[in-house]
Amino acid sequence: MRVAERKSKLRFTITRLALTLFLAVISAACKQPKVDSEMAVKPADVNESRITNADREPQNWMTYGRTYDEQRFSPLNQISDQNVSRLGLAWHYDLDTNRGQEATPIVIDGVMYFTSAWSKVFALNAASGKLLWSYDPKVPGNWAVNACCDVVNRGVAAWKGKIFSGTLDGRLIALDATSGRLIWETLTIDPNFRYTITGAPRVAKGKIIIGNGGGEFGVRGYVSAYDGETGKLVWRFYTVPGDPSQPVESPILTRAAQTWSGQWWKLGGGGTVWNAITYDPDLDQLYIGTGNGTPWSAKFRSPEGGDNLFTCSIIALKPDTGEYVWHYQEDPADAWDFDADEDMILADLVIDGRARKVLMQAPKNGFFYVLDRTNGTLLSAKPYTFVNWASGVDATTGRPVETAVARYTGPDPAPIVPGPIGAHSWQPMSYSPVTRLAYIPVNDAGFKYKLPDSFAAQKLAPNYGVDVVAAGLPQDPKVKKAILATVKGKLVAWDPVQQKSAWTIDRPGPWNGGTLATAGDLVFEGTASGNFEAYRADNGEKLWSFPAQTGVMAGPVTYKIGNEEYIAVLAGWGGVFPLAAGEVSFASGRVRNVSRMLVFKLGGKETLPQVPAVEQPQLPALPNPASSATIRKGEQLFQTYCAGCHGDVAVSGGVLPDLRRSSALTDDSWFEIVLRGDLQSEGMVSFSKELSRDDSAAVRSYVISRRNQNAVPETH
Ligand code: CA
Repeated sequence: MRVAERKSKLRFTITRLALTLFLAVISAACKQPKVDSEMAVKPADVNESRITNADREPQNWMTYGRTYDEQRFSPLNQISDQNVSRLGLAWHYDLDTNRGQEATPIVIDGVMYFTSAWSKVFALNAASGKLLWSYDPKVPGNWAVNACCDVVNRGVAAWKGKIFSGTLDGRLIALDATSGRLIWETLTIDPNFRYTITGAPRVAKGKIIIGNGGGEFGVRGYVSAYDGETGKLVWRFYTVPGDPSQPVESPILTRAAQTWSGQWWKLGGGGTVWNAITYDPDLDQLYIGTGNGTPWSAKFRSPEGGDNLFTCSIIALKPDTGEYVWHYQEDPADAWDFDADEDMILADLVIDGRARKVLMQAPKNGFFYVLDRTNGTLLSAKPYTFVNWASGVDATTGRPVETAVARYTGPDPAPIVPGPIGAHSWQPMSYSPVTRLAYIPVNDAGFKYKLPDSFAAQKLAPNYGVDVVAAGLPQDPKVKKAILATVKGKLVAWDPVQQKSAWTIDRPGPWNGGTLATAGDLVFEGTASGNFEAYRADNGEKLWSFPAQTGVMAGPVTYKIGNEEYIAVLAGWGGVFPLAAGEVSFASGRVRNVSRMLVFKLGGKETLPQVPAVEQPQLPALPNPASSATIRKGEQLFQTYCAGCHGDVAVSGGVLPDLRRSSALTDDSWFEIVLRGDLQSEGMVSFSKELSRDDSAAVRSYVISRRNQNAVPETH
């Protein structure tokens, strides 16, 4: 070694020693746990102390909700209500997909980790947007047919140098945070059942906690804990009872089984943990939210009645063993797909003069719940938007007081609000301990529920157990206009103690983005109509807006590198609403998918490349010799098999191609796609096991009839 090099190395060592001492002093001054001086140089070096005290590292966004309490509040205040007008794009990173983007990025020591559609994982330099690595788990395209709600993914977890994420086809993967190399992967599901993973894993005490979806596809819900080092299963908690002739997996399921009737296990049961998982280090409890029973209608699921525990519930478990601690069921005998899977926020609130450790949730059913999380007792529940299925929640029993319309037993479809997309879904809400307000992206969209004459489980279609034709948007212009006029969205700032709104921003339609609250007195939210916006957190004054060129659904984050604060959000329209709701989704704005990470800083000057306008040329009518009976049969089949992805009554919401415009309407490629599976790699599997050639032809006649009805483009 040359002398100069030695000197340089010595200087480096001295600097390093000084830095270590400095860090030690800082550490002692802040009464923080001992900090390893290597901390900042090993990627994703998250340990027990760091993640439990994540609030003390405002420069990072270490876990899905930033901190274990999942408040999505950042103490950073360089960007504030005083200067947010100067916020500009710092960089953007374009993604190789046109499917929905739902992930919250996490940012640790200057590196951003996030997931995209098809469960792909990315690591970027969080200051520059430069790609460090990416990982494609190669989800088979044909698994997409098992996903209710697009091939989305909501993010990663980090622990001791590894990045963890779930894949659509049910794997949990562990990647080396430095290189993106696969360290282990484990199949968390039985692939004979139609499970999917779209939710972000969480880390609790070295275990990786992951659930799954499939409540519409005949699965039995559960949540699992895997050892972060080895990928070995530590425990699994089933949320609904299984086949009574088999051994019971946990004692509490014996009690749960008493709330079911008929042969529910043959339909799976449901109760999936597809999104909400929150660890509470204060009480050493893990909370999970569960979804609907299978199918939606309780009548076909549990014909002799019963509450169907633990569907649509919040459950507390012991994180070491998965043992049951308590539960609170929001929707006994749910019949509407009112999942309780929405993110749960933990906070210390003073209620009626008493300090309470609470859990807050704004689930699909439209009520804002405040629970005492020590024991699951209901403290209060009030509607955070218009609902007509229940007049309130009984404070003594904790049960909803259902209205006459709720059970849709009549011969006509019952318009019930909210509908299956929920008054609020997975788009994360935030809570500011400064303003003491929760910021909820609210959907106002009902659904026409009607019981069908009978129900038979389908292998490829979703199993709703409701009349899918009756649910379709009527084409009578007056009726249609009246229904569309009721479809709205809003950003609601909600006071959880008073249980009332402090301010509201009206949106043209539902499915707006998750929210971020900061100590700069700001709330950030993306919109379904294609903007990313900032509001004053205390009074809702609009301060800033950025044209994002696409619908923005995901939860924004903030982080700091050096002396620069950044705001990041993953943009890209998709998810179940534009996929399934058809023309109703146009209420939000006619956006397309442009998938990219957008990152902002004060004075940012970067610009986005222009995207061409959406072309909606007039559709020439096609010959359609089919009888009206065949077209009606085609409608029934379309609404059963196709509408979930290609849109209600054959109108695409802008993510997947609009079938009315398909060139396959006029040649035999229609059958090659529908029956042979020619587009399987993109998610369009063969339906030959469920549909005959005649069935397939009837579906095509129906789509042609819809095209011919709409020979002029929609005007929304
Ligand atoms: Ca559901």
